[in-house]
Amino acid sequence: MTVPEATSEEAGMDVPGAVLERGHVLHRQSVLLEQSVLLELAASQAPDFQASLRQILKSDAELLGVERVSYWSFSAGAEAIRCDVLYRRDANAFDGGTELRRRDFPRYFQALLDELYIAADDARRDGRTSEFTESYLKPRGITAMLDVPVWVRGSLGGVVCHEHVGGAPRVWTAEEQAFARSIGHVVSMALETAERTRAEESLRRSEERFRLLVDGVKDQALIMLDPEGLVVSWNAGAQRILGYEAAEALGKHFSDFHPPDSVARGRPQAQLRGATARGRLEVEGWRLRKDGTRFWAGVVLTSLRDEHGRLRGFAEVSRDMTERKRAERQQRLLAAASAAEQQQRLLAEASAVLVSSLDSDAALTAVAHRAVPLLGDTCLIHLQEGGGRVRRVACEHAPGSRAERHCGDLLGPEEGEAPTELVRVLRTGRSRFLPDTSRLLQRLGEEDSGRFVLFRRFRPASVLVAPMLARGRTLGTLTLFREELGHPYTRGEQALAEELARRTAYAVDNARLYEELRRAEQSQRFLGEATKVLVESLDYETTLSRVSRLGVPLLADWCVVDVVEEGNVLRRVAAAHADPAREPLLRELQVRYPARWDTNPPATRVLRSCQPELYSDLSDARLLPLVESPAHARLIRELGSDTVLAVPLVARGRILGALTFGAARKRRYGPVDLLLAEELSHRTAMAIDNARLYQEAQKAINLRDEFLSIASHELRTPITTLHLQLQHLQRHCAKSGDATLCRRLDISARQIHRLDKLIEGLLDVSRISTGQFRFNLEPLDLTQLASEVLEQFQQEAARADCRLVLRAEGPVTGRYDRLRLEQVLANLLSNAIKYAAGGPVTVGVEERGDFARLTVQDQGIGIPEKDLSRIFGRFERAVSPRNYGGLGLGLFITRQIVEAHGGSIAVKSRPGEGSTFTVDLPRDFRPGVKSARAGPTEGPEP
Ligand code: ADP
Repeated sequence: MTVPEATSEEAGMDVPGAVLERGHVLHRQSVLLEQSVLLELAASQAPDFQASLRQILKSDAELLGVERVSYWSFSAGAEAIRCDVLYRRDANAFDGGTELRRRDFPRYFQALLDELYIAADDARRDGRTSEFTESYLKPRGITAMLDVPVWVRGSLGGVVCHEHVGGAPRVWTAEEQAFARSIGHVVSMALETAERTRAEESLRRSEERFRLLVDGVKDQALIMLDPEGLVVSWNAGAQRILGYEAAEALGKHFSDFHPPDSVARGRPQAQLRGATARGRLEVEGWRLRKDGTRFWAGVVLTSLRDEHGRLRGFAEVSRDMTERKRAERQQRLLAAASAAEQQQRLLAEASAVLVSSLDSDAALTAVAHRAVPLLGDTCLIHLQEGGGRVRRVACEHAPGSRAERHCGDLLGPEEGEAPTELVRVLRTGRSRFLPDTSRLLQRLGEEDSGRFVLFRRFRPASVLVAPMLARGRTLGTLTLFREELGHPYTRGEQALAEELARRTAYAVDNARLYEELRRAEQSQRFLGEATKVLVESLDYETTLSRVSRLGVPLLADWCVVDVVEEGNVLRRVAAAHADPAREPLLRELQVRYPARWDTNPPATRVLRSCQPELYSDLSDARLLPLVESPAHARLIRELGSDTVLAVPLVARGRILGALTFGAARKRRYGPVDLLLAEELSHRTAMAIDNARLYQEAQKAINLRDEFLSIASHELRTPITTLHLQLQHLQRHCAKSGDATLCRRLDISARQIHRLDKLIEGLLDVSRISTGQFRFNLEPLDLTQLASEVLEQFQQEAARADCRLVLRAEGPVTGRYDRLRLEQVLANLLSNAIKYAAGGPVTVGVEERGDFARLTVQDQGIGIPEKDLSRIFGRFERAVSPRNYGGLGLGLFITRQIVEAHGGSIAVKSRPGEGSTFTVDLPRDFRPGVKSARAGPTEGPEP
């Protein structure tokens, strides 16, 4: 540094005549000082303000001849000054470090601010500096002060202090004051210059660093563009990534690094416009290398503006993100694959649940459970049921979702109207896709109708409602909600939900079909069982009691049967409860509230209207009108009566009674139960009717038998008398020789005999039915017996123009009742003559081991096959009474006699080809020992 040395002459010129000259010298010296200091500072790369300051202060002290010259800098806020440098002329030494605070020397600090400089000739007395007297001036022997504030860019930066040490105060001349002020100015300039030089240097350094940085960046292309988009700067990274040397790249256009298709779409220009408008633009896209290959670039384009806001160009920072993009794509593909896999798994799991369980409510809950959270925060399943009702069967939600609070009260199984959007899906069979509900929710915020109940409660962000379609019908809906914004449903998820709903629907449909089948089977079994029970007894009270037991528990928890009896009286004939502990309740019901026409329980209503009554859901409101009192209602509730069904018992148009069934909540009677109950009641009514008819028939038969028995006894007496009288007359007539009279008497006698036989037959019937048909077994030769009976019938056969033939090879003996076997042969023979139409009749007697066989064969009219088994019954006949007389008792009595002998009778016949009656009789019959050959069967083979 070249600082002008003050010459001793110049410094010591204090003679008055030289004042002007000295002022001149001082001025020149200050100018020189300023120039040299500033030059020094500006030329230096690392300006040393301290060194310059020392130089200035030292020159100052020399030129003004002041003992102490110092520079103090202000602390921030100007609360204190600190001595940076103090030059002491006597010691030619530099010092510093003292600090003075404003609060200790307020007047001095104020004066520095207010005045251009402080020239205190007598510093100890001067108001501006007297504060220093004791603590500062006196100890240092200072008597005068000349202090000049140093202003830097409008604020107080420091102060240059001249402290005169001496016995007396010093009067500061105007030149000295001017010089001191110029020194203040020089310091100020030096400060500014030093600061600026430092700032410039640091800017240069930072630019240098920036350049190094820019060039050091190899993995990012840092490109400067001018406002037109032409390259003005190109770093090593740009060269590496894009392949152009800086020299090649400079002057190229921004769009030269874009692929042609992108340029054709105007993308580069659009990006420049975007960055111009918004200041900063972040984009990703394909860029083109020098070799024509592409890479995926992540670009930040920033517009550069000067202080006036004018566009000066663009900075483009771009990175090659091809690898990252590939990795991301792979990640996305993997995520998609895993999502697809999860979705497939969801479908597979749901299908497995659905096929493994036919309890559809539980299965549907399991499906909904699996759909959460993959497909939503909430999954609801609603089923459409009879009568347009919609029932919610499942509501599953992710933990902590809003639905957790609302699931319970949303459209419970019992209540209300279906939400609007569900109804729409049910009606159209098309899904509702609401990826973003914000506008709908906004609208609903103001609306206060009952619509959109689901939205109001859940406030979902995204919604899907898929129809459960199976075999062309919409069985219900599957609803999915997402609560959080930012994850709207996609079309892919819609398709997945539709597929899930479709599978669910098929499962529900299958379960329903199966259930129907199962119920039909069960009903068939039940009805089969019922029919068996019903035909077992012809006593109708027993039957009804069995029916009431049959109804529980399959059809009901309890069942009662009321009937209308003679005189239109109602009576409860049977009651049963599945729970034996509750049977007493049924008795109490019967005792306290017996069925009466003037009451209104379901059974009475049914008896009055003849129509069934179905109370699927017997609420309190529906129960009250049916009962006599609240206590009655309570009793009915205690039985378990949440669902009740009553059906009439009607047979041949007549109401016989009513069946009432009741069950607790787990069951709900519907049309299927009604059908089953009606079928049961139909069969029961038939059984009751049959039993009644049977009882009536039985009564009529008894009456008839009684009548026959009395009538035949009463007829017998006059016939016997008549018979005796006739015999008497015949004897007289034979003596008189009146042939005509004799013939007439013979005819009368035959008719009397016939009458006797008829009455005898009637008597036998009544004996058989009253168990008085007795036998007297004795050894007997059947051939002999047959020949005698044939003999008796010769006349009658002759009258019918009928030839009688006996075929027997010898005696056939056994133990028999002679009169009864005579009766057997007589019955068969008289039939053969009657129905033989003049043909021959052959009677055969033969021995077949332990058996004797009698046969009566004719060639007459024969018997139709359908009548063959019937003709052995009482009063059964197979001919018209107009052509052939008879009571239809002969074969009946014959069979009774044969069977009473342990034998059997059979017939072989065809219409027009004659008949053969065969009687097999054990030869040594012991009553009470059943023969192995008994029964009206065909005879044993020869
Ligand atoms: P009835 O001869 O009085 O009618 P039966 O009990 O003797 O009563 O016979 C029952 C029925 O069997 C007859 O009405 C007749 O139709 C049929 N029948 C019996 N024997 C013969 C027969 N030999 N040929 C054709 N039909 C016969």
